[in-house]
Amino acid sequence: MTGVQTGSVTSLGLADGQVGGNDVADFNIERVCQNFPILREKVYGKQLVYLDSAATSQKPQGVIDAMSRFLLKKNANVHRGVHHLAERATEAYEGARVKAQRFLNAEHANEIVFVRGATEAINLVAQSYGKKHVGEEDEVLITAMEHHSNIVPWQMLCEQKNARLRVAPINDNGELLLDEFERLIGRKTKLVAVTHVSNVLGTINPIRHIVEMAHARGARVLVDGAQAVPHLKIDVQALGCDFYVFSGHKMYGPTGIGVLYGRSELLEEMPPYQGGGDMILSVSFEKTVYNVPPYKFEAGTPNMAGAVGLGAAIDFLAGLEHEALAAHEKEVLAYGTRMLSAVPGLRLVGTAHAKASVLSFVLDGVHPHDIGTILDREGVAIRTGHHCAQPLMSRLDIPATARASLGCYNTRQDIDALVAGLDQVRELFQ
Ligand code: PMP
Repeated sequence: MTGVQTGSVTSLGLADGQVGGNDVADFNIERVCQNFPILREKVYGKQLVYLDSAATSQKPQGVIDAMSRFLLKKNANVHRGVHHLAERATEAYEGARVKAQRFLNAEHANEIVFVRGATEAINLVAQSYGKKHVGEEDEVLITAMEHHSNIVPWQMLCEQKNARLRVAPINDNGELLLDEFERLIGRKTKLVAVTHVSNVLGTINPIRHIVEMAHARGARVLVDGAQAVPHLKIDVQALGCDFYVFSGHKMYGPTGIGVLYGRSELLEEMPPYQGGGDMILSVSFEKTVYNVPPYKFEAGTPNMAGAVGLGAAIDFLAGLEHEALAAHEKEVLAYGTRMLSAVPGLRLVGTAHAKASVLSFVLDGVHPHDIGTILDREGVAIRTGHHCAQPLMSRLDIPATARASLGCYNTRQDIDALVAGLDQVRELFQ
């Protein structure tokens, strides 16, 4: 409902970003939107219609408040202090870790490593687990729909180790070719790294099935959950994956904080990624003894306010009854698909059967950047370009797309505003 005025916006008066399951059990969109003050902004005198949540989501008041409360009342360095504030800060930081554990249904809190985001998490796994286990002529398998963040770290590893990066193909709808995928997992495959949801196509990949195929051949699986966590209920134990990564900022949390989930026994045996404070038990010039996971991987002062904000974002999502949120998002996606398909000269890019809140498209005779610029003047914010997925653009034989992506706050009216903007684009270019 970013295009609709919601009247006076009041906080729901709930603590730490909580929206209270019963309050929005029927997914009261007005009340959900009231949590996001930025949605009241005007752009060029027009009501903002925010359709760029796949790039970064907007932040609910509860997240903003939780971070500011931390800075106002609890700020001190974690783990090291004996004074009261240090205790408060540590409690808040470690409390956020437990929230993340529950959010992913991880078995143990020490399987949750705080990182800057999905990108850092993937680099960590590549340079720690990967460096230890991927040898000469071994293989890392990714897919044709990966974000650069799930390509380049593996390319770097393969260059360092003289290993081979293999790429599983997709069909024209943007779905993984699972037979081909299975064929590519061989004796030499040490790691499979696959996105849960594509940021360009919206495709939801069958992670459980992929994990079963990979594990049957002894390969470990990393899942890039950056685009999945705001939309899907994640259960890492049910998925069976070895690593799961995501960024806070795409799920209504702050930037600069994210999570690497790794199964305990893997994190235990992995070497540290970076050296410094907090990741050690003792240091002498002769030898350093490393801390246990997750601290072994959290060198230096962490993003404490960020972790608290992420915890509040998890509370916010927990407060939106998941079935109702999923039904709402599905309905808006279906409406968007229908409405965009009816625009003359428009072609949707990514028409997978299982799809989450992304609508990528191209329009005959108009460069996506021009679409984005004209829509912006109407207050409609979308993304245009290659979306950090240049190999996917090559596979699809297009230089770029326009992409509208949805969050919990978007409605049919937002889609209508998008389509009205596209009518103007077409008038200007015809
Ligand atoms: N993977 C996917 C699928 C993404 O969409 C993104 C962000 N666009 C990333 C990884 C990287 O996330 P971040 O920049 O927050 O590290």
